[in-house]
Amino acid sequence: MNPPPFPGVEPTETRVGIGYDCHRLAAGRRLVLGGIPIEAEKGLLGHSDGDILLHAITDAMLGAATQGDIGELFPPSDPQWEGADSSVFLRHAAELLTGYGWRVVNVDAVVIIERPRLLPHRDRIRQNIASLLGIEASAVGLKAKTGEGVGPVGSGELAEAHAVVLIARQETPRLM
Ligand code: MG
Repeated sequence: MNPPPFPGVEPTETRVGIGYDCHRLAAGRRLVLGGIPIEAEKGLLGHSDGDILLHAITDAMLGAATQGDIGELFPPSDPQWEGADSSVFLRHAAELLTGYGWRVVNVDAVVIIERPRLLPHRDRIRQNIASLLGIEASAVGLKAKTGEGVGPVGSGELAEAHAVVLIARQETPRLM
């Protein structure tokens, strides 16, 4: 370990994590993105509420802290997660990271969905994710893309989400 830059100030250790998720879109399902219900013709199919955005962010957090992945922690085969609010997964990951001394610095994410347009909902989604993580909304970026009418995303059969998360902690000084 390098000596602290200033006496009494421990250097900060940072890690980055990446997350990805996709779920099918189906009629008769609720569309929930970033924990916010959105009016739409189709919603995300899944064992839980299918919230691809929270799943991608949760996986990015777990990846940054090398704490496995969402499928390991919340197996789809486990009936207790049937219809689960994915906020539970995100909160669990946040608590796990806190236990290791990590805090989330910022989140950036992309949702790729043909319909509906997410721009009118973007700031509400960002605010909700920030509240769940106990960070400022200014530390949560969100972009929406379409599939340009091509492929499974473009035909409205599938939606995808990508996320990166930066985490940081103060390095614990090692005993000599
Ligand atoms: Mg998922």
